[in-house]
Amino acid sequence: MTQARIAIIGAGVVGATAALVLARAGHPVDLYSDRTAEQLRDEVPATGTAVLFGHSRDVDHTLVEELYADAPLSTGMNTRLNTGEPGALQDVLAFDPDFTYTAAGIDVRLRAYDRIRLFEQAGGRFHVETVTPENLDDIAGAHDLTLVSTGKGGLSGLFPVDESRTVYRSPQRHLLAAAFTGLGHGPDVFTARGHGAGKHNVFNLHTDHGEIWIGPYWHKDAGASWSVLGFAKPDGAWVERFGEVTDAQSALEVVVSIYRDYFPDDLPDIEKLRVIEEDPRSWLRGAVTPTVRQGVGYTRGGRPVAALGDSAIAFDPIAGQGAQTGLIQVAALVEAIEARESDFTAAWITDQFDRHWEERGHAAAEVTRLFLGDPEYAFVAGPVFAGAVADDAVGAALFGLLSEPAPILDLKTDEDVERFIADARAALVRG
Ligand SMILES: Cc1cc2nc3c(=O)[nH]c(=O)nc-3n(C[C@H](O)[C@H](O)[C@H](O)COP(=O)(O)OP(=O)(O)OC[C@H]3O[C@@H](n4cnc5c(N)ncnc54)[C@H](O)[C@@H]3O)c2cc1C
Repeated sequence: MTQARIAIIGAGVVGATAALVLARAGHPVDLYSDRTAEQLRDEVPATGTAVLFGHSRDVDHTLVEELYADAPLSTGMNTRLNTGEPGALQDVLAFDPDFTYTAAGIDVRLRAYDRIRLFEQAGGRFHVETVTPENLDDIAGAHDLTLVSTGKGGLSGLFPVDESRTVYRSPQRHLLAAAFTGLGHGPDVFTARGHGAGKHNVFNLHTDHGEIWIGPYWHKDAGASWSVLGFAKPDGAWVERFGEVTDAQSALEVVVSIYRDYFPDDLPDIEKLRVIEEDPRSWLRGAVTPTVRQGVGYTRGGRPVAALGDSAIAFDPIAGQGAQTGLIQVAALVEAIEARESDFTAAWITDQFDRHWEERGHAAAEVTRLFLGDPEYAFVAGPVFAGAVADDAVGAALFGLLSEPAPILDLKTDEDVERFIADARAALVRG
């Protein structure tokens, strides 16, 4: 193996992980960040909740040792769909499968901070500097390979949007994310929701307004806690409520109001939630236009650079694919760097990204469409949700797609969906 001089721009969880793994593999790595490690941990909100479901969690463990052994794991998804307005709500369906894997949501700010520190211990060079399109050319010129992981903004504009792989032109949901303390993870929480209690995520869907999810979380200051993600449909009533959020306390008030009005069974637990006093940035509001970019971009001087993480593919978070897919991209890229037989040309970078798209990105984007309720996936969602009500094995297969989304690419016809359901049931019988 020959060493490669590698530059990584952006030290979010994806860039910091790539930097650490490549430095430990013996490559000279420069990691550029517009913030210090402490600022990344303490002065910005988390980019997202970044729950790793099953497979990506296993992959992450092959990259970096477990640092959060005390984090609460989740083992299932307590799901309910209802309809109607306050005072006239109607249950549509409910199911509560165990996952066939475990999931964990670790504060990405903490993960990035810890990985930057380990990167420095491994001999990596951490530069606090905002990289601009102008100086990116010098950086790329001084390195054999430059990876751009500056998130959805930053330098992502260097990579043209791939229109053939990008389905949406506008955000499909308004988002509200916040972490709270005050509620434990024992068998006494969410008891109204069934057997999983404190170990299952609780996922509530409303036919017209959107979705609200709460799951076990490891917060950088509070440790074991809960993350809440609200997804408001653009023409639904929750958009206005999300717009009222200006701080952690108002985020909590809006969350409580949505449960009170739309999912009152969960209110006794939700009312126990408290803001995390040590972290005024424990909340986030916004929207993502799901976007797939080309894997290669060029500096002003024409040098090729590679897109990584959210800079390559930005997902709506409804199916929790962003960090998972970014970390899987890191693992594949590290292997390809080790196995390379040529320079890091534009063609090499494009090949790696196309492979990543085929192996993970495409399926992750399609699973996101399924959970967004895209009409093109109605032929899947209808029978699979109904099947999940009848049989937990089908629910487990549905949420298996969060961990390993690839099977969705085989669902083209009603018969394929029937087979998916039958296979899930057969797997349960065999198990
Ligand atoms: C509400 C929400 C919930 C989510 N839930 C999940 C989930 O459950 N599971 C999951 O897998 N994913 C989830 N995601 C997605 C996940 O959080 C992101 O995919 C992931 O954190 C992106 O990491 P990143 O390192 O690619 O980008 P970022 O975290 O955005 O990091 C980019 C870094 O680059 C820096 N930077 C920017 N410009 C420059 C520059 N010019 N020079 C130097 N540095 C620069 C930024 O400051 C930042 O530190 C969620 C996202 C949201 C919004």
